[in-house]
Amino acid sequence: MHGISYARVADLREALAEGADPDSRFLAGGTTEVDMLRIGVAQEKRLVDINDLPLNQIEELPGGGLRLGALARMSDVAAAPVVRERFPMVAQALELGASAQLRNMASMGGNMMQRVRCAYFRETAMPCNKREPGSGCAAEGGFHRGHAVLGTSESCFATHPSDVAVPLVALDAVIHLSSANRTADGSANRTADGSANRTADGSANRTADGSANGSANRNANGSANRNANGIANGAAHGTRSMPLEDFFLLPGDTPEREHPIEHGELITAIEVPAAPVARRSLYLKVRDRESYEFALVSAAVAAAVENGMITDIRLALGGVATKPWRARTAERHLMGGPATREAFEAAAAAEMAQAVGRPQNAFKIELAKRTIVRVLERVCVRGSGS
Ligand SMILES: Cc1cc2nc3c(=O)[nH]c(=O)nc-3n(C[C@H](O)[C@H](O)[C@H](O)COP(=O)(O)OP(=O)(O)OC[C@H]3O[C@@H](n4cnc5c(N)ncnc54)[C@H](O)[C@@H]3O)c2cc1C
Ligand code: SF4
Repeated sequence: MHGISYARVADLREALAEGADPDSRFLAGGTTEVDMLRIGVAQEKRLVDINDLPLNQIEELPGGGLRLGALARMSDVAAAPVVRERFPMVAQALELGASAQLRNMASMGGNMMQRVRCAYFRETAMPCNKREPGSGCAAEGGFHRGHAVLGTSESCFATHPSDVAVPLVALDAVIHLSSANRTADGSANRTADGSANRTADGSANRTADGSANGSANRNANGSANRNANGIANGAAHGTRSMPLEDFFLLPGDTPEREHPIEHGELITAIEVPAAPVARRSLYLKVRDRESYEFALVSAAVAAAVENGMITDIRLALGGVATKPWRARTAERHLMGGPATREAFEAAAAAEMAQAVGRPQNAFKIELAKRTIVRVLERVCVRGSGS
């Protein structure tokens, strides 16, 4: 493992200035980041510890929504009465993830940024397009039982691992970001041709020794320049937000790019809009063992049923896709129709018609259909999760 320097920041502007350094990476609970550094997949030379930032609140919003701070711990969000009451499937997804110890450390922002569990991504001796673009995909001819069947490409078919992202996507959650290099209107500072500021050879501006210019200006000791208040100088920052669904990118030809964010952009919060329908919701996780295991298939559903007809439906899948998968095809089939097993089976079949199975993971297609039917029956017919 290479040498790493460490900075603990207590102020947002300071965090953004430190985070803008191309060699740095944010550290929250460390349950993903430290592993990545240990196994040599992450190469950062500087960790910016953000745990002192005031971003751990769980706030109620007017109208019934919630704002979850990026540093709120998974265990705290799962235990919050307001989450359990208004969005039971969010609390359930959190409690079914990782282990109690991990959930006490792991943050909501870090959860959105966790890396795939593909064994070849984590084994630096093997080819992996996500870790090393253009090197190939060892999973294609190798072990891929847990891999995705939806949203895949020839470059990569690793499964997105987060549990809680699944109900959050079903609920149209919005993610909030801050960065040092954004203008007040929230757009990245760009040249007239729309590209990020770069030198003629296309590389980020760098000094002769290869360090970045104009981001985190450093003095001879390597620490960011600060004023008397300890706030980084010149760190004007902007904010933007986007639907959480858009925060996760399909692999396509660029599997190395998992999120549409710039280096140094900080997740500050995840907002869950009011959704009375979510009071009757369920997260079902199917896995090889009952605890401490990632999903083979999972489904989050919230539904309203009146006189046997579905009047509102939110459905998303985990464990089967390269991103948390909003099952819009199934939603369209179900909305306004009868809450019957036949309708659930037709919707599940329609959603999974687009799935592409490979030798070891094709079983997930049938498993996903059965999981969708099971979760719909429990919520729409038996009323679980209400
Ligand atoms: C053994 C094991 C089992 C697990 N099982 C599950 C499971 O079943 N379900 C599940 O959902 N998850 C599971 N996880 C993943 C776990 O939930 C994540 O590791 C955790 O949520 C990451 O949060 P963290 O605060 O520790 O992030 P860190 O490790 O600190 O950071 C992770 C990444 O996010 C970046 N980051 C962190 N915070 C921010 C921010 N605010 N803004 C921008 N970037 C940020 C970091 O730079 C880093 O790249 C498991 C993990 C382990 C180790
Ligand atoms: S599936 Fe994706 S992460 Fe796994 S080896 Fe292939 S390219 Fe890498």
